Amino acid sequence: MMQDCIFCKIANGEIPTDFLYNDDSLVVFKDINPQAPVHLLIVPKRHIRSINDLTGADKNIVAEMIMAGKDMAKKMSINDSGYKLFFNVEKGGGQIIFHLHMHLVGGWNK
Ligand SMILES: [Zn+2]
Repeated sequence: MMQDCIFCKIANGEIPTDFLYNDDSLVVFKDINPQAPVHLLIVPKRHIRSINDLTGADKNIVAEMIMAGKDMAKKMSINDSGYKLFFNVEKGGGQIIFHLHMHLVGGWNK
């Protein structure tokens, strides 16, 4: 865990958060500044700064994040209407919190 990292604090329960999903390796919760009717964040519990910092040892967590995105889209009933899964990478890519997270957005024309 990184000191002063808000997503580390959310993932370890230091900041109380409603999780839509929670397992040993990742958590899912709502973006506090939603850009779509459904806007969730899929966040690994282990601190990784961004996509740039991934190594070969992180293949499993990346795969788990994508599978969680797929499962959450179904849970939110936006799987058929369609959705986006994406990463913002570093400041120029729109990343604001420097703890790896994937966005799930959708629900526009349900
Ligand atoms: Zn962190």
